[in-house]
Amino acid sequence: MSVEHDRVIAKARGERSFICLRCRYELDGVPMNDAHGVVCPECGYEMRFHVQVRLESNDQVYQQSVKKTLNRMDRVLTRLAFGLVAVAVVVVLVMIFF
Ligand SMILES: [Zn+2]
Repeated sequence: MSVEHDRVIAKARGERSFICLRCRYELDGVPMNDAHGVVCPECGYEMRFHVQVRLESNDQVYQQSVKKTLNRMDRVLTRLAFGLVAVAVVVVLVMIFF
């Protein structure tokens, strides 16, 4: 594993706390092995730090339009979910009373 990854992970662990993915135990100070792995001292769950590099647009107009589209999709999906729940409630009520 690369020394550069070790540095990036150490920096990230210094800036925020990571918690066990199974039991939510705080992993501050839990040593990392050579494969970037950590074992939760509370529940024994084995995890691994993963370093990811992401390329994103520097175009502010494009970024704004992507955000707006995602917000719009979020609203549509939320309304759809509420609609489905309402339909399910009506169906259950009809089944109970008729
Ligand atoms: Zn755990």
